[in-house]
Amino acid sequence: MTFRTAPRALATATAALLALTGVTACSNDDSPAGADPQRVDVVAGFYPLQFLAERVGGDDVAVTNLARPGAEPHDLELNPGQVGQISEAELVLFLHGFQPAVDEAVEQQAGDRAFDVATVEPLLDATAGGHDHDHEGEEEHAEEEHAEEASDGAKDPHVWLDPTRLATIGDKLAERLGAVDPDRAGEYTQRAATLRTELEQLDTEFTEGLKTCQRREIVVSHTAFGYLTQKYQLEQIGISGLTPEDEPSPQRLAAVAEEAREHQATTIFFETLVSPKVAETIAREVGAQTAVLDPIEGLSAEGGGDYLSVMRTNLQTLRTALSCS
Ligand SMILES: [Zn+2]
Ligand SMILES: [Zn+2]
Repeated sequence: MTFRTAPRALATATAALLALTGVTACSNDDSPAGADPQRVDVVAGFYPLQFLAERVGGDDVAVTNLARPGAEPHDLELNPGQVGQISEAELVLFLHGFQPAVDEAVEQQAGDRAFDVATVEPLLDATAGGHDHDHEGEEEHAEEEHAEEASDGAKDPHVWLDPTRLATIGDKLAERLGAVDPDRAGEYTQRAATLRTELEQLDTEFTEGLKTCQRREIVVSHTAFGYLTQKYQLEQIGISGLTPEDEPSPQRLAAVAEEAREHQATTIFFETLVSPKVAETIAREVGAQTAVLDPIEGLSAEGGGDYLSVMRTNLQTLRTALSCS
């Protein structure tokens, strides 16, 4: 990262050395590997933000995702090189409240180059889109839990699972990129509009596909689906809370199993980036199957697909599990 400010003499010497050894990749310009003067350097905290930056930025941006493919991004730790990337990027795309390590590094390093996508539209409370009704006997437990979550005013960061919210964030991103790179502002706006059309199409598919279902409750491994369940009138029952590493208590597991039975859940959902063990335990106990419902916090290590295709797979999974017509 300090290469950028290396004296020209050093750069020239390096170029000469590279030429001698037959490596010519960097000899066309003065920039070091990784820094492309023709493109806006964007750092994204995790996959959905990378997806947005690539779609809205196109070939005019170079996007770095701080989260490794296949790794759960909530608890991402940054190495010094990544902190350096944050301090040098022309735009840092992050979601305050989702990745504490990124929040901290952005606060220290990014200044006004940071774009907090959590500020685009007010976030839902952590309990919104949750499962809040009065079954005999479980009322007390549910209230206790909601009170606990509500007491710290927690907000739910999983905004990208509502495609229309993601579209609006894409529009704002186009504005930010246009401010960084005014010559191409029109292209950013145009790409955001194209993406919006695709996301609105996806939204229509979800609305139609989940209109008529025999069940509307989904048992999920952590409560990542509040925006999706609110948008499409489903209810989520989370085994864990807002972050996957919250260990559920035995009481919580028993309560979830009870809920699953009561709502005749045929499927307990787990995630690609988190161990399915707990979901499997509950599924066995209530005689349900397990299936992946992907919160798209990151793509799996095998890759394959993008936000749009994984969302469509999620829709099919939901339609099967909830017996939608
Ligand atoms: Zn999450
Ligand atoms: Zn219930």
